[in-house]
Amino acid sequence: MNKNVFFRFSFYVSLSLLVLFAGKVFSQEREAEPADNFQMEVYLTQEEALKLVFPESDEIVTDEIIMTPEEKQHLEQLLKRRLFEDGFIVYIGKKNDEIQGYAIITEEIGKFHPFTFIVGVKPNGKISEIAVLVYRESRGGEIARKRFLYQFPGKSFKNPIRINKDIINITGATMSVQYMCAGVRKVLGVINEYYLNGKREINVTKEGNDKKMQSSAGVAHRNLNEKQSKKGDEASGKKLVKETRMIMGTFAEISTYSNNVKNAGAAIDAALNEMERMDALLSNYKKDSELSRVNREAAKSPVPCSAEFLEFIEQSLFFSELSGGAFDITVSPLVSLWGFFNEKGHIPSDEEINRLLPSVSYKNIEIKRNGDKKKPGTVFFKHISTQIDPGAIGKGYAVDKALNVFKKYGIDNACINLGGNIYVLGEPDGKDAWRVGIQHPRNKNEILGYLELKDEATATSGDYERFFEIDGDRYSHIIDPRTGKPVKGTIAVTIVAPSGTDVDALSTIVYVLGKEKGLKHLREIPGAEALIACENGGKIVLYTTRGFNEKFTRVENEGKTDVTWHVVSANQQ
Ligand code: FAD
Ligand code: MG
Repeated sequence: MNKNVFFRFSFYVSLSLLVLFAGKVFSQEREAEPADNFQMEVYLTQEEALKLVFPESDEIVTDEIIMTPEEKQHLEQLLKRRLFEDGFIVYIGKKNDEIQGYAIITEEIGKFHPFTFIVGVKPNGKISEIAVLVYRESRGGEIARKRFLYQFPGKSFKNPIRINKDIINITGATMSVQYMCAGVRKVLGVINEYYLNGKREINVTKEGNDKKMQSSAGVAHRNLNEKQSKKGDEASGKKLVKETRMIMGTFAEISTYSNNVKNAGAAIDAALNEMERMDALLSNYKKDSELSRVNREAAKSPVPCSAEFLEFIEQSLFFSELSGGAFDITVSPLVSLWGFFNEKGHIPSDEEINRLLPSVSYKNIEIKRNGDKKKPGTVFFKHISTQIDPGAIGKGYAVDKALNVFKKYGIDNACINLGGNIYVLGEPDGKDAWRVGIQHPRNKNEILGYLELKDEATATSGDYERFFEIDGDRYSHIIDPRTGKPVKGTIAVTIVAPSGTDVDALSTIVYVLGKEKGLKHLREIPGAEALIACENGGKIVLYTTRGFNEKFTRVENEGKTDVTWHVVSANQQ
């Protein structure tokens, strides 16, 4: 039984950190994840981690390795383990143009959730620094402490890094220690193989005389082993600039290729600030957001609201109308009843559900504007228990807002990713499209394939992102507002559509409505395409619309994957 949550996009677009942690799992079964297990500790940002590893460097460049299947197999043989990655981003610290060391920020799966760490390696192959950036479980967190990590510096790839032989174990955290040892070996293996053995040539492009260390890092283009893009040698030597923050309880990451790192950094900052502003406006986790204020007061009397907030509610109501109520932001009381809000999953009685159902209807939301659409107004709830949950649309909406801000800086390419809600602008440097991997819904180590996108958005709703299990039955966080119960049958839906709001809302709509009805509704949004995964007697059946199929490349998984593919028409009844 797969209880790990691992929403992984391919490394082609360097999105690993973000999408890895989009979801959460909790379970009540024996041997399942304890309800209170997910506990995120953020120790270091990416920038802090790089400063720690390269304290003296005046420049950090990044080099993106994309492995061929043969290279991956070779590395797996070398490490004697399977790798979930298809590539790595390697940071190279330099001072006065001289390489000071290499570092990789990577993840290993802990018992239930991945943890993120950095390993720095000197040019002589020995570990210089190691630190944990994010740990996500209540147990095993001792591996993030210095009194454990001090054991790694000085070790090189020659050292097998065995638990209890080369590294002293921590009682009660054995699994985490094992995963950390394996992760360190992985980093050493990559750096040894690609850099210390001279396989890779570092040819760094510099930004004028500006040698300041930046959180964004220049990219060494184009390296010998890199797969040739369709555009071949057309890469212009632009630098990859990216920044990651925690927003809306998940990772937000924006990447862009630019010749003007300063402008790109400012654009990314402004766009991330806009996402944070949306979080402050729309969060149901923040007591002082406008949404929380409305939730507290709107059942008593009409609450004055900003025009911006009303616009968000109206967009949500549009999707409720479109889906005949399958999508409904007033689902909030049911989300809480099933324990998804506080992660204490439980099965309520029919009586409890039926008692709440009258409060769950988008028709309970009454909006009044003081004039035209740009003016503020009021929101009133017609039922005393009505509450709003922005969970199925807020991230996509924030991506669109961030995109608008980003575009003002005149940059023609970006990948904007908020917890797996992704918009890609233009093309990455030297390539025809951005690649976004789609995770296998039942095997965290596999991707089904990847999308190649340009000027459009994608998002996935899945039952593996937030769920609990009781007696082998899985209860996911996506609830049919008409029955009050978690949806069964559909296990994942990926949508491609013109905007972030569209893909976020539509992925939930198609998930709730299922294949036939969901496809019918897709027709209402021009340019919307879908991949729908259903589970039937243990078998996974995947349906893609023709348009989706055109943008999607399947990855063969050596016969391991028990899936059947069908290409269907969106007009299919
Ligand atoms: P999606 O399929 O996009 O959405 C599923 C979510 O939508 C469910 O979790 C539920 O909340 C809601 N939902 C369920 N059924 C329906 C339905 N039929 N119609 C409409 N909505 C439905 N998480 C944290 O842990 N901490 C935070 O601080 C936090 N802050 C957030 C702030 C904002 C503004 C937003 C938008 C989300 C925040 N979240 C936070 C995450 C949130 O709680 C959801 O878990 C998350 O949005 C689920 O997104 P998804 O893409 O996985 O699934
Ligand atoms: Mg959604």
